[in-house]
Amino acid sequence: MFEKKLVCTRCGAEYPLASGIYKCPKCGAPLDVTYHYEDIANLIEDDDPWFRESPHVWKYWMFLPVKNLKRIVTLNEGGTRLYRLKRLEEKLGFGRLYVKYEGENPTGAFKDRGSSVEVTKALEFHAKRLIVASTGNMAASISAYGAKAGLEVTIVVPEGTPEEKLTQARVYGAKVEVYGKTYDEALAEAERKAVEEDYYLTGNYHYRVEGQKTTAFEILDQLRYNVPDWIVVPVGAGTHLRAIWKGVKEFHRVGLIEELPKIAGAQIEGYDSVVRAWKTGKPVEKVEKKVPTIASAIAVKKPVDGENVIKAVNESGGHLGTVTNAETAEAGLMLGREGIFVEPSSATSLALARKMREEGVIEKDESVVVVATGHGLKDVKTWERILSGNFVV
Ligand SMILES: [Zn+2]
Repeated sequence: MFEKKLVCTRCGAEYPLASGIYKCPKCGAPLDVTYHYEDIANLIEDDDPWFRESPHVWKYWMFLPVKNLKRIVTLNEGGTRLYRLKRLEEKLGFGRLYVKYEGENPTGAFKDRGSSVEVTKALEFHAKRLIVASTGNMAASISAYGAKAGLEVTIVVPEGTPEEKLTQARVYGAKVEVYGKTYDEALAEAERKAVEEDYYLTGNYHYRVEGQKTTAFEILDQLRYNVPDWIVVPVGAGTHLRAIWKGVKEFHRVGLIEELPKIAGAQIEGYDSVVRAWKTGKPVEKVEKKVPTIASAIAVKKPVDGENVIKAVNESGGHLGTVTNAETAEAGLMLGREGIFVEPSSATSLALARKMREEGVIEKDESVVVVATGHGLKDVKTWERILSGNFVV
């Protein structure tokens, strides 16, 4: 409704909001949806009852690129709770520590925010069948939203994807294709099939970013527009971190907040291409080895939004860091003791926040929100291995 155009995140080329365009035809970089922000700012008045509405993805419809709100594909995604962890904040020396627990989404992961917007757009573009490459969570999520929309879904996943996620996708009626050893190989296959076999390609593209930025909207809404000092996010493809930074900047631009938080991104050991590029100032290079990991959901060799993650972190004065399997497992168990069960990759954000605090990057008394992206039941076998003292296969 208020969306304007697509702009390349690297070269700045502009395109209309059309179907069949997934990345910049000129330079291959991800695209970004822009809006008429003045119109959005004019729409929201100071004493608007809108402020009192409970947070959920479509509360922020004016920041979402859809034509007809009566035709959205929704399973009531978002509205996940923000828990304050008082015991942990005291133990680790934070001013305030919160976890945004995305495991409370309909399919158990943050991906549902993006899938709701993406599948709504697929219907607008008259898509008949969807395809997605995934490490598992996005596959399950697109399968659910495709089912809700009455569309056929094919998912392409690498070997080693947790069975729980594949079973979930099959129950939603998706066709599962296991392809390649890594997410990057599965992605190349899904993109090939989309072109050659007329699928609508879903995944880490611009419409998903729009849904994912509502994580940031909700955090700020739930904190009553008091901006935290830090938001710490796991980095797989990097799209969620990029989206969260976009979300806070949009709230800032329309005058809903006056300051901006610093953004930090956590990668898992062995899959640290973005951290390396950030530290050396060099381009994001593919990590060459496949390393045993407990964080399969973020085991990405060359994140599609790597450049955008670095841009967001630098713009915000933030930080990027790598955490080990052991540090991640320990952080996951700490969350467990607070009553929050996350899949191992989701614990990388707390693991990094803890490290940043120890290193003095996060100062004493600063407020921190860690984003936990998926439910622990998504990857039970890995937790069984961790509990038996055998971290990785
Ligand atoms: Zn470009």
